[in-house]
Amino acid sequence: MFSSKEEFKQSFVTRMEHKGLEKTSELAYETLWEMMQEWIQERWNRTSQLYKENGEKQLYYFSIEFLIGRVLGQNLINANHYNLVKEGLEELGFQLSELEELETEPGLGNGGLGRLAACFLDSLASLELPGHGYGLRYKGGLFTQHFVDGYQTEQPTQWIQEENNVDVRREELAVDIPYYGDPQLVMGLDGLKVKVENAEWVKAVPYDLPVVGANGGTVNTLRLWQAEVSDRPFPGNKDYAVYQSETAKITDRLYPDDSLDAGKILRLKQQYFLCSASLQNILNNRNFAVETLPDNVAIQINDTHPALAIPELMRLLVDEHALSWEEAWGITTRTISYTNHTILEEAMEKWDSRLIQSLLPRIYSIIEEIDRRFKESLEQQPMDEESLHKLSIIENGIIKMAVLAVVGSYKVNGVAKLHTEILKKREMKELNEQFPDKFHNKTNGITHRRWLLKANRELSGLISETIGTQWIKEPERLKELHYFAQNHSFLQDFQVIKSLKKDHLIHHLQRDQNVIVDPDSIFDIHIKRFHGYKRQLMNILHIQMLYDRIKRDSTYRPYPRTFFFGGKAAPSYHFAKQVIKMINTVAMKVNSDPLVRKHLHIVFVENYNVTQAEYLIPAADVSEQISTASKEASGTGNMKLMMNGALTIGTFDGANVEIFDQVGKENAFVFGMRAEQVMEYEKEQSYNPKGIIEADPEIAQLMEELVKGEWTEGKTNVDFIVEQLLEDRDPYFVLKDIRSYSKAHEQLLEVYAQPEKWAEMCVKNIAASGIFSSDRTIQQYSDDVWHLTKIPSVH
Ligand SMILES: *Cc1c(COP(=O)(O)O)cnc(C)c1O
Repeated sequence: MFSSKEEFKQSFVTRMEHKGLEKTSELAYETLWEMMQEWIQERWNRTSQLYKENGEKQLYYFSIEFLIGRVLGQNLINANHYNLVKEGLEELGFQLSELEELETEPGLGNGGLGRLAACFLDSLASLELPGHGYGLRYKGGLFTQHFVDGYQTEQPTQWIQEENNVDVRREELAVDIPYYGDPQLVMGLDGLKVKVENAEWVKAVPYDLPVVGANGGTVNTLRLWQAEVSDRPFPGNKDYAVYQSETAKITDRLYPDDSLDAGKILRLKQQYFLCSASLQNILNNRNFAVETLPDNVAIQINDTHPALAIPELMRLLVDEHALSWEEAWGITTRTISYTNHTILEEAMEKWDSRLIQSLLPRIYSIIEEIDRRFKESLEQQPMDEESLHKLSIIENGIIKMAVLAVVGSYKVNGVAKLHTEILKKREMKELNEQFPDKFHNKTNGITHRRWLLKANRELSGLISETIGTQWIKEPERLKELHYFAQNHSFLQDFQVIKSLKKDHLIHHLQRDQNVIVDPDSIFDIHIKRFHGYKRQLMNILHIQMLYDRIKRDSTYRPYPRTFFFGGKAAPSYHFAKQVIKMINTVAMKVNSDPLVRKHLHIVFVENYNVTQAEYLIPAADVSEQISTASKEASGTGNMKLMMNGALTIGTFDGANVEIFDQVGKENAFVFGMRAEQVMEYEKEQSYNPKGIIEADPEIAQLMEELVKGEWTEGKTNVDFIVEQLLEDRDPYFVLKDIRSYSKAHEQLLEVYAQPEKWAEMCVKNIAASGIFSSDRTIQQYSDDVWHLTKIPSVH
C-alpha cells in the first residue's frame, strides 16, 4: 500500500484530519478501509486488463455459499502490508487488532462447503491463476446464534452496511432471469426455436468483491448476485406487489441448511438465479466464438446446488445462440465439472418434477431430453432394474440432481480418498461404470494464509525464524520442521506460543461471553456444524461418564481439561438442537460441581463462525474429529487444527485417514469403527445398542441416569436423545464407539503428562500439514480438470 511506514502514517493522518476532529476507532477503521480499497482497486483493474489482453482460459467456481470471513486483516496480510500498518497505527495510538474487530463477517455460508469455496479463491489468486467465484449476495447471512435457557436462538445477521461495504455494485452488468411462463415454438430467422412467453423476469445485479492473492499482485473477482425487480413488462394476470415481495426474498437470506429443507421453492429459485445470471454474464462478456467455450472457460460446480447450470447452459446455447442440441451438449459437457460433497442420503438433492416444471418449464423440458437421450444410450446394454434406477435422472416424478450433475459434466470428484472410493464403489457405482474416466479424487485443503499466517502470527513467525520464509510460498516445506521436532529450545518456543494463543482465546471469551477459563488446562476443541454424524453427542456423553467416574472413584483425578464446543444447528433440525441444549445443561451441572470442576470444564462458544474459529484453532491442544466412519466426506476443520499444532482424536473418516497417513498413527489418537464395518452394519441392519449397554456397566449407569432424568433440569429434553439411542437404534453408532473413544482419551492424557513428548507430536503434525494447503488442491484441479495457465502479475 506504501513503500514505508512513514508514508502510510502520513497518508493515514491526512485522511483522518479530513474526516473530523474526533480520533475514534471507528474513524480509523473507515480510513484504513478506504486506503486498502484504493490500493486493491488499482491492482484489480490491472489484473482484469491483463486477463483481457492475454485471452487465457478462465475458471468460474459456482457455489451457493462463500464463507469468506473478515477481509480487512487478510487483505493486509496478502498485500504484505500487515506489519507495516500495525506498527504505523500503534505509533498513532491505534491497535490494528481492535480495528479488525469492528468488521462484521459476512456469513454467506453454513460451514465446510462454503469455507472451502473461500479457501479456493484465496489459493487461485495466490497461485496467479485466473479463477473467480460466482455466488449470491444474501442480505442476511447465516443467523447469529445465542443461547437462551440453553437453547439455540436465531437472529438475522446484518452484514451489509450503508458504507464501507466489501463489494462494489456493477449495475451495467445486470441481467434478467426468467421464471414461469409458457415455452412456445416460434419460427425465427434460423429455423424453429423455443421462446418462453409471459415469463416473470427478475433482475440480477452483480456486486463484486476483490480476491487479493499472496503478494498482492493478482486480484481476482468474487461476483455475488442480488435479486431486484426487472424493468421488463410484467405479465398482466399477476399481482405486482406479490412479485415485488417474492423477488426480494430470492436473495434475502442464506438457506440455513444444506442438508434438510429440500423441496423449498425459494431454494430452487435461488439456485436457478445463481446459474442463469452467472452463465449469461459469461456468455455476454466473452471475446471468443461460443463454439469454443470449453477452450476458454471452465466451470466448477460446488456440490449439486448449482447443477441447473447444465440445463441452463443448454437453454442459452440452443434457444439464444441457435446451436443444435448435439453441438450444445458437446460444449456443455466439456465446460462443466462437478464436486460431490456428501453421500448422506438426506443431503442428496432431489426435486419434485412438478415444481421444476411450473417454476422453470423450459429447463424442465431440457432435463427431460437429457434423461431421455441418456437412457436411449443405455438401451444396448443389459441392465437390471436397480442399475436403471441408479442411472435415472428423472424417476417417479423426482429429479435427482447428483445424476444430472454426473451426466452433464466432464469430470466428477470426491473430496477425500475414502469419500471418492465410496462414491465409485457404492453410491455412484453404476455411473462410474458408465463413465469410468470421469471420477477422480481431489482431497480438500485449507489456505495456510488465513489459518496459519493470519490466525497465528506468532507460530508463523517462529516457523519462519526456524526454517526461513519459503514455506509461505511452498507450504509443503513445513516438512523441514521435522528436524526440530526434538529440539528442546524449539519445543519450548512452541509451548510458549501455544500458551499465548490460549491467553488470546481466554481474553476473547471473557470479553465476549464472560467466561473464565483455566489457561493450564488441556484445550479440547470440538467445533463444526451440529449434526448427528459429527457426534457431538458422543463427546458430551463421554464427559458425563468422566463426571460419574470422578464422583464414584476417589482415586480418579484426571488432569484438568476444558472441553470447548462451537457450532450451529440448522433451525429445522430438531435432534441437533436437543444436543445443543443437552450440552448446555451438562455444562451447568459439571461447571458448578466444586469437585468435578477442578478436572472438567465445559465451554460452549456462542455463534461459531470464521472469526471464532480463528481464535479457537490456534489455542487448541486436542482436535475432535469423531464422525461416524464413512459419513464425513472430508472435513477441513481437522486440517486447520493440525496445522496449528493440535493433536487429533479421530476416526478413520474423510480426510482424517490422509492426516493419519501423513503424520503417522502414532502421532494421533485413532479409535472406532472403520467405514466398511459401519456400512456392513447398515446394510445388514444388524446393530442393536442394547447389547452394548448391557455389557458395559459405565455406559449402563449413564443410560439409567439419562432415563431417570438426572441430567435434565425442568423441561426434559433428553427423552428425544434417549429415544434416538434406544428406539432408533443409535443410527450414528455413538454407543458402539464410545468405549474405544474413552480409551483414546486415556491414552491422550498419558501423553499429555509428558509435555516434551506432546510438543514433539504437535510439531510433527505441523510439519506434516503442508500437503493440506488448498494451494496443493487447486494446483491439482488446474492440472487435471481446468487446465489453467498461470498469469504472472506485473508489479
Ligand atoms: C472450517 C470450518 C468449518 C468446517 O469444519 P469441519 O470440522 O470440517 O466440519 C465450518 N465452519 C467454519 C466457520 C469453518 O471455518
